[in-house]
Amino acid sequence: MLNFDFYNPTRILFGEGQIASLSTLVPAGARVMMLYGGGSIRQNGVYDEVMAALAGHSVTEFGGIEPNPSYETLMRAIEQVKAGKIDFLLAVGGGSVIDGTKFVAAGAMLDEDPWSIFDKRSANIVDALPFGTVLTLPATGSEMNSGGVVTRKSTQEKRSFMSRKVFPQFSILDPAKTFTLPVRQVGNGVVDAFAHIMEQYLTYPVNAKVQDRFAEGLLLTLIEEGPKALSDPQDYEVRANVMWCATLALNGLIGVGVPQDWATHMVGHELTALYHLDHAQTLAVILPNMLRARREEKRAKLLQYAERVWGLSGGDEDTRIEAAIARTEQFFASMGVGTRLADYGLGADCVEPVIKALEAHRMTRLGEHRNVTTDVSRKVLEMSL
Ligand code: NAP
Ligand code: FE
Repeated sequence: MLNFDFYNPTRILFGEGQIASLSTLVPAGARVMMLYGGGSIRQNGVYDEVMAALAGHSVTEFGGIEPNPSYETLMRAIEQVKAGKIDFLLAVGGGSVIDGTKFVAAGAMLDEDPWSIFDKRSANIVDALPFGTVLTLPATGSEMNSGGVVTRKSTQEKRSFMSRKVFPQFSILDPAKTFTLPVRQVGNGVVDAFAHIMEQYLTYPVNAKVQDRFAEGLLLTLIEEGPKALSDPQDYEVRANVMWCATLALNGLIGVGVPQDWATHMVGHELTALYHLDHAQTLAVILPNMLRARREEKRAKLLQYAERVWGLSGGDEDTRIEAAIARTEQFFASMGVGTRLADYGLGADCVEPVIKALEAHRMTRLGEHRNVTTDVSRKVLEMSL
């Protein structure tokens, strides 16, 4: 196992009715801004429940944070935070609202253009406004991690940042609030969480047996419960298991002491920035072929994955590996997420623009061995057409 420093200060309140706890979690006397997305929370009752819990607090609102939150929108939020001397943020929504809130929390404390966070690799985040979250979409793990992803529409860039200053103080996870998710977002959430686990688990062995078993348990749970969330959307226990899985997939727990990959996510971000695929759609397309293209360096873990997650133990090694990758693809498809670029109307002419974007963002040595050059990424994209 590799050395590590595990830090996660986010308090989690899980279960039905927990939104009421906001009344005590949000500091009394704070000037609060509640940030949310395109309005789903107004339709499903979450908005009313949050507002009722915050009665007696001073609350302003900032709505309209879009999926793949944009720098342009978030800069307006930062202006409003500064003008209103806001000192506590509350994100209510999915990963986009939470990531956007992290950018606002850090950006509001900077004297320079907050876009500098990306070029300075977050080194200029020395402080951030405190914030909490109410999660409505299990997928990203953003509710219990220190990362965020922001898109700049004007330049078609999607960039990520990480800073210990942007861990949420608390996150409320009420599985019943996910009953209203559209089928597409249920599938996306399960695929994103699955990919997060794979990017940390499927590298090379370092005797991190605890992390491996955690990762395999989470993958098995998603395989078991994910399809049920589609077929029986009102099943609370199913939603609860999917929700907690997605949080544990990317809250640091399974990622400590192991090498991490993330090449699939980085290539995927460029596909979203240029062609507007949903985040999870890019992962469903790229992950299987990233594994195929790098099967030699990942051989030992691919065999472990085949056996422990998919129960494949017979036949020769290469057959088992291919079968495990094919099962992964079938699982994504069964969650309603297409696994080819063609499923999203993209052809061979999408490849070079993605490669150029990766070069522009210095994403030219990706993966746990830093050997995923743009030639490898190109091959993976071509395999994914
Ligand atoms: P999302 O973009 O936050 O939300 C997708 C859609 O689902 C929105 O239209 C949203 O509507 C709707 N929605 C959310 N909750 C709902 C509910 N309970 N009922 C009905 N509709 C609901 O999706 P996401 O997958 O959570 O976040 C994706 C973003 O996170 C991407 O930008 C991705 O790159 C990023 N990401 C971040 C991390 C991280 O560690 N920070 C990791 C992976 C990905 P509203 O607009 O009305 O809310
Ligand atoms: Fe992701």
